[in-house]
Order: sequence, then structure tokens, then C-alpha cells
Amino acid sequence: MNKPLSSSDLSAYWMPYTANRNFKASPRMLVSAEGMYYRDDAGNPILDGTAGLWCVPLGHAQPKIVSAVQKAVATLDYAPSFQLGHPMAFELAERLKQYTGNRFSQVFYTGSGSEAVDTALKIALAYHRIRGDATRTRFIGRERGYHGVGFGGMSVGGIGTNRKTFNSALLQGVDHLPHTHNLEKNAFTKGEPEYGTHLADELERLVALHDASNIAAVIVEPVAGSTGVLIPPKGYLKRLRELCTKHGILLIFDEVITGFGRLGTPFASDYFDVEPDLFTTAKGLTNGVVPMGAVFVKPHIHDAFMQGPDGIELLHGYTYSGHPLACAAGLASLDIFEQDGILEHAQSVSDYFQEAAHSLRGLPNVIDIRTIGMIAGIELSSIPGKPGARAYDAFRRAFNDGILIRVTGDIIALSPPLVIEKKHIDELFGKLAAILKTLD
Ligand code: PLP
Repeated sequence: MNKPLSSSDLSAYWMPYTANRNFKASPRMLVSAEGMYYRDDAGNPILDGTAGLWCVPLGHAQPKIVSAVQKAVATLDYAPSFQLGHPMAFELAERLKQYTGNRFSQVFYTGSGSEAVDTALKIALAYHRIRGDATRTRFIGRERGYHGVGFGGMSVGGIGTNRKTFNSALLQGVDHLPHTHNLEKNAFTKGEPEYGTHLADELERLVALHDASNIAAVIVEPVAGSTGVLIPPKGYLKRLRELCTKHGILLIFDEVITGFGRLGTPFASDYFDVEPDLFTTAKGLTNGVVPMGAVFVKPHIHDAFMQGPDGIELLHGYTYSGHPLACAAGLASLDIFEQDGILEHAQSVSDYFQEAAHSLRGLPNVIDIRTIGMIAGIELSSIPGKPGARAYDAFRRAFNDGILIRVTGDIIALSPPLVIEKKHIDELFGKLAAILKTLD
């Protein structure tokens, strides 16, 4: 057991997306992890109901990943990726390409999901310019979309509270589709809700307003996670695809949370059978072990650049693009996905998981439960005048009771590692039900 830190030891670390004063007055400290469980600094097991931050699909301390990263760090600790390469970066790209069924042809590495989003937006702009379509500079995001914290991602993102402080520095020339969340029509839906397909047609309105010749790309999360599990209505994504194709607009899927098995398929584009032109990934790519993101592109995108002038085709890249340790973790993760039948396992438990989530219906304050693949959103009514307080209370109590849940506003989002077993699902929802019964 680690020696507990005193509260004065905590002050130097300015924690991200955290109520720092609140946390430091009453810290929740994780000190180790294995399989489905974290352990806190008092030695208590904490069942991971969220795969860390959606990023640990294979469970913690996977021996194959640990040893691959250990080997990599002792062999090639770092290699620049500008005008130089190392074999693992190429091997991983080829394996990732195959993981898309060879439907996507190239992979551009980044260090995170936010960087992947900004990279995808830049590729979209550069693609149009290189083809002589330089007026296509506008982006269309969606309300309640989350695309990370870079200025590009924040601009296409649709969370008012995240945007207001940085408003003056947001990209100009971004508009937003309406979000698809509708409790009146779709509450307590399993899978894709029936109502809301027509909301994709709002793109026609934005095209009429801005003109297609000025629009570079539409970016959406196939399933929005960070704003509380918003599942696309039936046929919605297909309709968006049709409209983008009709107007020569690129369609970008942000698959940072849906990539790597979250819906029981390699990517959400497989699940919904809708192909974007580019898509972003990050979280599951290395099982959260080493930071890494990646943008996947279709052949027509990459070809446009390769037919351009000689020299550096895309003036973009990161010091840590294709980091050897991240590549090692990515390769080992793909091995596990394939050799251990992770997608098949996720498919086999997802119905049990979703039913367990829906069994919370009828408990106090539960106004919606929505599920898809290995994702569940449980929406609570808000305490008047204190939005978010009820779910935050649930989060604090859950941690004390040994389960890690994630909350956003008054929505509880569950996205456990895909290796979860029925006994863990019982533990997760059993404890959560008990907590929900006693919340104010
Ligand atoms: N895009 C989506 C859809 C996300 O859910 C996230 C993170 O939650 C990001 C982008 C940003 O990823 P990162 O935190 O790795 O920058």
C-alpha cells in the first residue's frame, strides 16, 4: 500500500476537467490496476465501469501489452517521424488498415484524440485546396458534439459551456446541426431510436445558407459519448452520408470512443454500415497504455495529395506521431483483439449488459436509459437549481462503494472494458441500483 499524500502534497498538480479544490479536499487516488479492477490507496478494489476514460477495452495490465512496451522501450525508446521511420509504425499502419477491411488505405498518427480531430479537419481543408476547391473552408459540427479540446475540435464541438470561455478564439466559419437527443420521443430505447432521422436533413438547410461550395466537411461522433450517450436515430447517419456525397462535402466520423470494439464491431462505421471519408480514433488504439491517436483516410483522400506537387505533401505532424512505445502497444492490442476474440466476447455479453442497464428503470429519479453495444447512458432528473449535483453525488458514492462510473451533467455513462464478464456486470449494476435508491 502506498503512503497517503497529505493535502499540501496535492497542490502542484493542476488537474484537468476536475473541480480541483473539491478533489484536493477529498481525493480519490488510484494506485494500481489489473483486469477489471483499479485499486485505491487504501487497497480497495474499484470495478472499472468506464474502461478508464473509455480507453481500456482489453482490461488493465494486459501482460502482452506490458511486455511489448517493455521490450520497445529497451530497444528503440524514441524515433523522429519527420523524414525518418521505424518498422513498427509501418507495421501498425498496415495492420490498422487491414482492421478496417482495407476500406481505408492510410493512417496518420497523432498523440491524442484532440490531435486526431484537428488533423482530420486540416486534411479536409488541404484536400479541397489541393484539388482546386479552395473555397471549401467551412465546417459543420453538431450541437452536443465533443471533439476534444484543440481549437479546431472545440470549434466544431457543440458544448456551450466548453466554448464560452474561449469564444473569441474559436474558428470562424463553423455551423452546427441540431443534436438528436429527444427524451419525449425516444426515452428508454435499446439500440437506435426510431425518432429523429429527419434531423439529418437539417444539413440541406445549412447548405442552402452557406452554399456547398464553401463547406469542407461535416464532423459527427457516430455515438456521442462525452455529452451523455446520444445514439443516432435509425437511418440518420446514412442520410448524412447521402447528403454529404450529394454536395461534395467530406464526412468525418469522430470514432475516438466508438473505435476498437465499443459497439462490438471494429468501428462504428461497420456497425452502422455507413462509410465516412475520414475518421478519427484514439482511446482503444493502445488500450490506453501509451497516448496515441490516428486518422484513417479513404484512398481518394490520400491519392489527391500524392498527385500534388513533389515534396512534403501535408505540412502537418507531431513530435510524437508514431511513437515506438505507442506502436508497440497498438500492435499488441490488435493481437489481443484478434487472438482473444474480444469483439465476439463483447457481442456475447452486450445484451446482458444492456438488459442490466434497463433493469434500473423505475428507480428514483431515472428519466431515461439508453444503450447500444457496450455503452449505457442513465439520465437522472436534476435537483432544481443544481444541475449535475445528483449524478456527481452518485459518482462519489459509487467510488466509495467500489465501482467507477462516469458522469456528465446528470447523466451516468457506462462503458466498461470489453472483457467484462457477467459477474462484473451484476456487481456494477447491483451496486449502482443500491446507490440510486438512496440518492437525494
Ligand atoms: N473526440 C471524442 C469523440 C472524444 O470522446 C474525445 C475524448 O473524450 C476526444 C475527441 C478527445 O480525445 P483526447 O482527450 O484524447 O484528446
